[in-house]
Amino acid sequence: MTTAQIANQKPITVTVGYGTPDASTPLGPMDIPLREPGAHDVVLRIEYCGVCHSDIHQARDEWNNTVWPCVPGHEIVGRVVEIGSHVTKFAAGDRVGVGCMVDSCRHCEACRGGEEQYCEGPRGFTATYNGPFKPDGTNTFGGYSSQIVVNEDFVLRIPAGMDPKSVAPLLCSGVTTFSPLKHFKIGNGDTIGVVGIGGLGHVAIQIAKALGATVIAFTRTPEKATDAKRFGATDVVVSTDSQAMEKYAGKLDFILSTVPTSHDVNPYLALLKRDGRMTLVGALEALEPGINNGPAAFHRLSLGGSLIGSIEETQEILDFCAANDIASTVELIPIERVNEAFENVNDCKVRYRYVIDMEGSLSS
Ligand code: ZN
Ligand code: ZN
Repeated sequence: MTTAQIANQKPITVTVGYGTPDASTPLGPMDIPLREPGAHDVVLRIEYCGVCHSDIHQARDEWNNTVWPCVPGHEIVGRVVEIGSHVTKFAAGDRVGVGCMVDSCRHCEACRGGEEQYCEGPRGFTATYNGPFKPDGTNTFGGYSSQIVVNEDFVLRIPAGMDPKSVAPLLCSGVTTFSPLKHFKIGNGDTIGVVGIGGLGHVAIQIAKALGATVIAFTRTPEKATDAKRFGATDVVVSTDSQAMEKYAGKLDFILSTVPTSHDVNPYLALLKRDGRMTLVGALEALEPGINNGPAAFHRLSLGGSLIGSIEETQEILDFCAANDIASTVELIPIERVNEAFENVNDCKVRYRYVIDMEGSLSS
């Protein structure tokens, strides 16, 4: 940590990060301001950070809301190195995690109900990076950095014995897939589909199986079938094979789509039983092609979305994964390979989540 004078501002602490000043420049090293820790804050020295597809969308401004510079990363595992005077939940040396949020308004109906991810405050929740969607001159910087300062209420305990690099992706991919499975009470007796066997899907299969469901995995990549079965899928369907898809027509109680971009949901709606539901957690855009509401009406189907998960659910899934021996399958990379990793994620080449060795890459 060093102290620097930035134009017209009081001296602030800076830390070493990896980010980009605009949508077309590859990520590279940069100094980023580190918020002065307050009484309720925890300072983390970051050990590992997962590479989520959202990082790519945000760094390339594919959602048209990026605040520059952008330092991505919201699957953060590290050690507490400093705590504020009023911090009660953590102590220096603890291994902790930070996921997709670092704050919220704390008093809207969603926040009071423990669902900060749906915060109805003027800015919604504060994202771990690219925090203010309507910038007021401040920004938040994510886990592609050596340190981060976070309010203790948004810091997670990493259960003892968990491999820290394999646990990092659970902070986004784990809770994002767990939250709708929990909300819609998926468990014993349910047969569900998981669409997409990537960073989210390979964890979703394990979680749904551990919850008691029978899981059918859907992929465009036949080479992933063996892995999907190892993760706990009872059967694997290559989604481009219409005959294989037909086998499950009207058979599924629930479908979780983890595909990170728009895709045709109509072939999947045909697989749901009456009153079945399909929930999309990856795509945050208009769906193309559109939905044929005929089959949906004839079978009273529901189609919808779900966004990440609450802090309480994040802790719950970390503890659940520890108890059920669930982990992400990761490829560890140095930060210098993150631009290459972005390309490989877009080309579906990662098996199954890149995790950056931050401590081994950057020194502050
Ligand atoms: Zn994510
Ligand atoms: Zn709120």
